[in-house]
Amino acid sequence: MAPGAANAAEPLSTVDRPTSFFDLPVRHRPCVQGTVYLVGAGPGDPELLTLRGARLVQQADVIVYDQLVAPAILDLAAAEAQRIYCGKQRGNHTLPQHEINALLVRLAQEGKRVVRLKGGDPFIFGRGGEEIETLASRGVPFEVVPGVTAASGIAAYTGIPLTHRDHAHACVFVTGHLKDGTTNLDWQALARPGQTVVIYMGLVGLPVLARELIAHGMPPGTPAAIVQKGTTRQQRVVTGTLATLPDHALQARLKAPTLIIVGDVVRLHDKLAWFAPERTGETTPAM
Ligand code: SAH
Repeated sequence: MAPGAANAAEPLSTVDRPTSFFDLPVRHRPCVQGTVYLVGAGPGDPELLTLRGARLVQQADVIVYDQLVAPAILDLAAAEAQRIYCGKQRGNHTLPQHEINALLVRLAQEGKRVVRLKGGDPFIFGRGGEEIETLASRGVPFEVVPGVTAASGIAAYTGIPLTHRDHAHACVFVTGHLKDGTTNLDWQALARPGQTVVIYMGLVGLPVLARELIAHGMPPGTPAAIVQKGTTRQQRVVTGTLATLPDHALQARLKAPTLIIVGDVVRLHDKLAWFAPERTGETTPAM
């Protein structure tokens, strides 16, 4: 072994042992003034935030955040940090995207350390690309910090592996958001066997989505699940088949955010579910 190289088998001495995750012996880049950090906050459970994300939230001068960000993550910020909410208000629309983009440019040009916090991963149905395109064109420095996207967080917390050697060799993420009551997804491709289809923003469109998938050849008996507020203490999982899920979801009176998973892997939920929301998180505030 090269002199000075760490031996993985040898534990750190008690003197060197980090006392918290934040003392991990990694060389982290500092949080720089005039920079925008586009940070994925994870799917709900605040403990799924990355270490880099947590560090940046702690050091930020201003945090611009969305509605799906867990309150406990915002609590990591300094007391004096400015918090700007730009998610949906009841009855109102989200701050228009161009205004968010302009806000980020302005805050960075004022010399602030800006954290733009978004639910899940910023590059998966998060409009993160649009926000940093504006920054790039205006010469504002930025960094992107990935987050645990709803699909992988919820797959883990519901015991539904998204791929599995016996059930699914591919996995696709699609948006179920309907425009004028329909959507122009490639139904034929989605209805193919041997893959898992994960649908974001699909609660309202679920009857249309299920109908189209069946019409394009997916067996009506294909197992399917819809998960409300996954990874949080309010997680609810409703399972059924492609044919029955729309009714089950209606009866359960589910509310957004919900994620839909369609495919044979959903069968594994009964065997592999481990997360019992009502028994966890006693020390964390309600999410
Ligand atoms: N960038 C995010 C997705 C934003 S789009 C990510 O990577 O996860 C918002 C959609 O994500 C919601 O409509 C819902 O479909 C899904 N979603 C996000 N968090 C969720 C959660 N905790 N439970 C269920 N669905 C969730």
